Amino acid sequence: MDKLIKKAAQDLALAKNVVALTGAGISVESGIPPFRGKGGLWEKIDPMEYAHINSFMKDPVTVWNVLLKDMKEIIDKAVPNKAHKGLARLEELKKLTTIITQNVDGLHQLAGNSDVIEFHGNFVWQRCMKCNSRCKTSEVDLSCIPPKCTCGGIYRPDCVFFGEMIDPDHLVRSRQAASACDIMLVIGTSVIVEPAAYMPVIAKENGAKIIEINPEKTPLTNSISDYIVMGTAGHTLQNIVNQLEILIES
Ligand code: NAD
Ligand code: ZN
Repeated sequence: MDKLIKKAAQDLALAKNVVALTGAGISVESGIPPFRGKGGLWEKIDPMEYAHINSFMKDPVTVWNVLLKDMKEIIDKAVPNKAHKGLARLEELKKLTTIITQNVDGLHQLAGNSDVIEFHGNFVWQRCMKCNSRCKTSEVDLSCIPPKCTCGGIYRPDCVFFGEMIDPDHLVRSRQAASACDIMLVIGTSVIVEPAAYMPVIAKENGAKIIEINPEKTPLTNSISDYIVMGTAGHTLQNIVNQLEILIES
């Protein structure tokens, strides 16, 4: 057994308020590619060209064809993996209180977590740009691109495009959660995109321990992080939670 997996379980056993900050890496084992890194979507398309709100407003047909159609197909069929389930179990064990996620796939809620702050919104829903009504992405008809609401308005995903503001309520709630936790788990994120990247700093300044789970080092490693458990999210979290359950029972 990896020493750091045991150490993480021991730290969690003592913790009362754990917050997780998650990124695209936690959903890789659910078949959703990350944006950056190996196999990432950004290797194929330029984000500034296709994931910017100005591009969507100018040419929704192209953005739907090049980016959103594929995202819908992938996210429609994705299910929570061992990492999402591990975090749901940590909530059941009354350790984890809040997840701050940069992901838009809705898999934390599907796994059963109840307090999920979605910094970048949600791809599980589409919003009509004319009447503002919402429709499940899985139910949107793509036989006509861009898909349209019954009122004739174009559907856009309920997530934050580049060039759009993050909901200020989400920022306030995330800062509160980060400053109140005693452990922050930073899972599957390269911690580059602000303001999510700032949350571990807030947690650290308020006395929390920062534990990373990632197969690669990040800018937090050897600086803000107390330690990194190197490995894929599913396998690593499952092992940590198993160890924690043994500690709680003994
Ligand atoms: P990111 O910056 O969070 O980078 C991905 C990270 O995941 C890297 O550090 C990588 O080492 C790590 N990783 C890769 N495989 C892993 C695994 N199996 N287990 C644990 N960690 C793993 O994410 P990004 O791809 O640069 O995305 C930037 C933005 O786009 C974020 O807001 C992100 O959430 C969003 N996005 C969301 C989804 C989704 O909803 N699933 C998918 C792609 C991108
Ligand atoms: Zn409408």
